[in-house]
Amino acid sequence: AVEVHDVHKWYGDHHVLNGVRLTVRPGEVTVILGPSGSGKSTLLRVINHLEKPEIGHVSLNGELIGVRRQGERLKELSERSILAQRGRIGFVFQNFNLFPHLTVLDNVAAAPVATGLLTKPEARELACELLARVGLADRTAAYPRQLSGGQQQRVAIARALALQPGIVLFDEPTSALDPELVGEVLSVIKDLADSGTTLVIVTHEIGFAREIADRVVFMDGGRVVEQGPPAQVLDHPKHERTRDFLGKVL
Ligand code: ATP
Ligand code: MG
Repeated sequence: AVEVHDVHKWYGDHHVLNGVRLTVRPGEVTVILGPSGSGKSTLLRVINHLEKPEIGHVSLNGELIGVRRQGERLKELSERSILAQRGRIGFVFQNFNLFPHLTVLDNVAAAPVATGLLTKPEARELACELLARVGLADRTAAYPRQLSGGQQQRVAIARALALQPGIVLFDEPTSALDPELVGEVLSVIKDLADSGTTLVIVTHEIGFAREIADRVVFMDGGRVVEQGPPAQVLDHPKHERTRDFLGKVL
């Protein structure tokens, strides 16, 4: 499980995460909703320690992420240890962030080789399997610029799976895509969910949230305002702010 323990994050005097607590159980799909600026991306970035919280911490299967306890205090881990932990937390960005100078195959195979997890031939074999899984078995030799946005995002998903992470975080994975390409990416994410991968997805696709989420978390102003099964949060929201938000996006 991923546990977010009372996390606070400031940018200057802007209190961007204001005491966030969240538990993501193994195999569960959590969808995070909320207005722009509510702290959704910051929360994902805190989970894999791309951002450091000033207060609170995150753990994955009981192990602290990015820090270790030293008496009362939390001390930052070495860059190397943080990278190793980050390998267990896949991340898919809104803008794909593929390596432009690497082929599709090498985009997926790079991390397991760089981290010493697999030999180059092993990594390439795994990359082929993962690319087949996202429907791109025939595009392994292409470069990112030769692919559509939807294809690039599917490569990014295959890449996020290459280190065999315990959890995959998605930050608005379809919001940079043309509408006709959204479906192919959502369907790959749905397959992952069905195969039991633990997922945390920030998205504005409410219909998709309803279909895929075990739990919906609504954030506003750096806090979790409410959370629960989709039928509860989406159809019978308890809080005014959730109702307002859903009224605007539905
Ligand atoms: P969106 O739906 O627009 O992606 P979000 O919920 O993901 O919004 P965040 O990106 O987490 O929101 O940002 C939360 C707040 O923190 C915003 O007010 C944003 O301007 C601010 N913020 C985010 N990153 C930084 C940064 N690196 N430096 C300063 N302020 C930041
Ligand atoms: Mg965001």
